[in-house]
Amino acid sequence: MNKKIGIVGGGQLGRMLTFAAKKLGFSVIILDPTPDSPAGQVADRQIVGSFKDEEKIKELAKEVDYLTFEIELANADVLNEISKKIPVNPSAKTLNIIKDKLKQKTFLQSNGIPTADFAKVLDKGDVLRLVKMFGFPLLLKARFDAYDGRGNFLIKKEEDIDWGLEKLGGRKLYVEKFVPFVKEIAVMVGRSTIGEVMVYPVVETTHKNNICHTVVVPADVSEEVGNKAKVLAASVMEHLQGAGVFGIEMFLTKDGKVLINEIAPRVHNSGHYTIEACVTSQFEQHIRAITGMELGSTDLIVPAAAMVNILGEREGPSKPEGVVKASAMKGVEVHIYGKSETKIERKMGHITAVGKSAKEALKKALLARKYITI
Ligand code: AMP
Repeated sequence: MNKKIGIVGGGQLGRMLTFAAKKLGFSVIILDPTPDSPAGQVADRQIVGSFKDEEKIKELAKEVDYLTFEIELANADVLNEISKKIPVNPSAKTLNIIKDKLKQKTFLQSNGIPTADFAKVLDKGDVLRLVKMFGFPLLLKARFDAYDGRGNFLIKKEEDIDWGLEKLGGRKLYVEKFVPFVKEIAVMVGRSTIGEVMVYPVVETTHKNNICHTVVVPADVSEEVGNKAKVLAASVMEHLQGAGVFGIEMFLTKDGKVLINEIAPRVHNSGHYTIEACVTSQFEQHIRAITGMELGSTDLIVPAAAMVNILGEREGPSKPEGVVKASAMKGVEVHIYGKSETKIERKMGHITAVGKSAKEALKKALLARKYITI
């Protein structure tokens, strides 16, 4: 009988993980609150329920041989209990470090991995004290559940502090020194249950309104910076000890320093390009990593690639148009996630273009994006 993988979370990441798992011969069951979720549509079955519902997570775990996540919300106690029976990856210990952004930064700092300066804040007095240390601008950040920059507030001057505290009111917060980066780069890295580590090429990312907009590979950075980024990514994984694929987002500063911005304990938007551009996609690598298989090569199979997100531009039922025209372009692949409702800036799909250079691939991906409405 096929071995079964349970995935907590049924969005686009779960969907692409499911495609990869099915290709390797696994059966997949999804847990997601929305019936007919993007991943549920392509999996063998979906359990409808909240990813915070411990009973539902246990129900899923009872039916599968391996448990994994596309979101960081799960409760550590439940995961520890489940992990006595089946492999759970990333582990409760890893998720616990990562899901609190302040704990994550402290973990990195205590392992000698460079990050922006940061500190915990409880009230306005703390922020004012840190302004004196860090200067303006600085970022007020929510510690928990802060996806795609939701939960970040840029404080440029003293008058912004009250507004920021009000906007993020009720959430646990910390403050981070603003990094005047010259580029944002990212590295996907896989670590298997037996500790094998495979690092993907360095990519360059751009964000609009805090949401990933484009990704190009290879990043236009010196060999020295590229190597530094890869060594840092591998070092994060050595310290974390988790299994699975992780996304490591970084800032490159003017003087060539590489700082870690954030770790995602899962497949990541900045690794979607690997489906078309690498020997082993990040999704297949994750499935290999959590099921105890040998990891695959992370080498590029094309000179360059670019990824552009398809973000919603209105509210209402989704209606993808122009997909055929865009996919007809040579070297262009369109991925539509099957979400029934479109919302402003909701991730509805993405486009990857491969080419002779990153510039050419990006040009093609952006042109293909123009053909699509959703
Ligand atoms: P985050 O969700 O915290 O990774 O932040 C989303 C985006 O905000 C990042 O990709 C950066 O573009 C920007 N950002 C976050 N933290 C900083 C920082 N300390 N300095 C400058 N820009 C930042």
